Formats: sequence, structure tokens, C-alpha cells
Amino acid sequence: MAATIIDGKKVAADIKAELKKEVEELKAKGVNPALSVVLVGENPASKKYVANKEKTCEALGIKSVGHKLPESTTQEELLKLVDDLNANPEIHGILVQLPLPKHMNEKEVMHRISPDKDVDGFGPDALGRLLLDEPGFVPCTPHGAMKMLEAYGIDPAGKKAVVVGRSVIVGKPLAMLLLRKNATVTICHSKTPDLKSECLSADILCVAVGRAEMVKGDWVKEGAAVIDIGINVNESGKLVGDVEFEKAKERAGWITPVPGGAGPMTIAMLMYNTVEAAKNSLKA
Ligand code: NDP
Repeated sequence: MAATIIDGKKVAADIKAELKKEVEELKAKGVNPALSVVLVGENPASKKYVANKEKTCEALGIKSVGHKLPESTTQEELLKLVDDLNANPEIHGILVQLPLPKHMNEKEVMHRISPDKDVDGFGPDALGRLLLDEPGFVPCTPHGAMKMLEAYGIDPAGKKAVVVGRSVIVGKPLAMLLLRKNATVTICHSKTPDLKSECLSADILCVAVGRAEMVKGDWVKEGAAVIDIGINVNESGKLVGDVEFEKAKERAGWITPVPGGAGPMTIAMLMYNTVEAAKNSLKA
């Protein structure tokens, strides 16, 4: 039987509708939620992501404060901007779009963002809290993956979850979130010897590798939930995920499409974190 297609656009739209109400409530209390988006250089994909984030902020009534800096910006200049944004009480969230130009030290920049404003959740405070199961900003893409499972009633408890990819922004935090929900989690990577059998053992298979359709349809267990995080352009110029969608959907129970799955959820969860940051400012 063909899989249920997990509609990330619809789940994201529902989350954004709730957030819009929360933004109105915050404004009534005198808090104007604001996200600062910093873009350094001319990377076309980054420009597109930043434009999407700004558009979504606008749609939800969140103030978006853009900082577009030239490629020639120095590390010191960027750190100074981050310091200024950290100190600005009217800014609740700070997002520095990655990747930064090669001459910059990304880690130093990420570590500099105040933990109270780290809405991407990439800094050591946010990631440490994730590991400690303490409240904090959860990285947006893995958070979005979990929200999609939840929206379709897929409870990870007692299930075997396999995460392919161990990046700090997707694979590792997603594995932690699945563990938090009581799945038995395996993390795979480029040195995993028999990836196919690992994938075949998964009740929940999450793939964040960045290789077009690398996970084949017959690597998917019958009835499994498949969350495809990958965004790739294949040889024909088509946008595809990391999973061979057409074949995988004949075996999976649920599957996310690319586009229209993890992508829209990532932006929705960024908005979620920004609203959380604005709410936290009321408590401060
Ligand atoms: P990274 O390149 O940081 O990590 C890729 C991971 O995949 C690594 O852990 C790597 O292993 C593993 N890997 C690479 N090749 C293989 C292989 N042959 N077999 C098994 N594992 C392999 O990527 P990201 O996590 O940043 O992104 C992954 C994908 O998700 C990309 O397509 C990216 O565009 C997409 N993405 C989508 C987002 C969205 O909003 N939908 C947001 C963020 C990312 P090792 O560690 O051993 O090198």
C-alpha cells in the first residue's frame, strides 16, 4: 500500500497560524517580537533562505531586521554586530545565516550569540540543554521533523529509529530528540559499514546526508515512517531529497516529500523559537 504523504506545508501552516495569534497577544502586552537576520556575502542559496525567513516573519507580524554585509566583512566587524544585537533589548532572536565566507570562523560567531537570542539553537548553551533534557531553543530542522511525526500520530516510544547523518545542526540533535521520546536510536554516518541493513531495521528512518536519493526505496522497512531532510538538485536539475521518494513511498507507511516536507517546517520552527524568545523577554 502506498504511504501517507506527510504534508510539511500544512503542518507548518497550522503552527504558523497559532504563532500569529501569540504574536498578537505579545504585542498587546507591549512586546514586539523581532528577529535579526544577518547575511554575509552573496551566496545565492543563502539569499533565498534569508528572503523566505523575512517573508515569513512579515506574514506573522514578527519584525524582521535584516543586516546584509559585504563578503569583505571582517570577523571583528561581524562579532561587533553580534555584540550590538545581543545588547539591543528590541531584538529577541539573532540568526547568522550559514555558511559564512571562508575567511570567517563560524564557530566563534555561533558561540558569541547570546543564549537568550540563539533561535537557531546552534550554540553550546542550546545544544547542552538539549543533551541535558532542559528547556531551551531546539535546532529548527530536527524540531520540525519531530513536529511532523507528532502531527501524524507517530509516537517514537519503543520504536527503532535510525538517523542517517551526524551533523550538529540536524543528525545529532534529531537523534537526541528521538531518544527523549523513548525511541531506540541508531546514528549512521559515512563510516557505517552496512547502511542498507541499518535503514531496513528502522521503524522511523530520518535521513540528513545531502546526497540525491542515496537511500534507495528497498532500504525502507514496510510501514516505516520516513523523514527526508535532504535538499539536493539531481542531474536533471530537479529538487530531490536524500531518499528515492517514488520507490520508497510504495513501502513506507508515511513519508515526507521534497520539497514540501522538512523545508517549510524548518522556517516554522524558527518562528516558534523567535516567539519563545520574545515570551522569555517578558519573564526577564
Ligand atoms: P552535513 O554535510 O553537515 O552532514 C552530512 C552527514 O551525512 C555527515 O554526518 C556524513 O557523515 C553523512 N554522510 C555523508 N555521506 C554519507 C554516506 N555515503 N553514507 C552515510 N552517511 C553519509 O549535512 P547537513 O546535516 O547540514 O545537511 C544534510 C542535508 O540536509 C543536506 O541536503 C542539506 O541541504 C539538508 N538540510 C535541509 C534543511 C531543511 O530545512 N530542509 C536544513 C538543513 C539541512 P560523516 O559525519 O561521517 O562525514
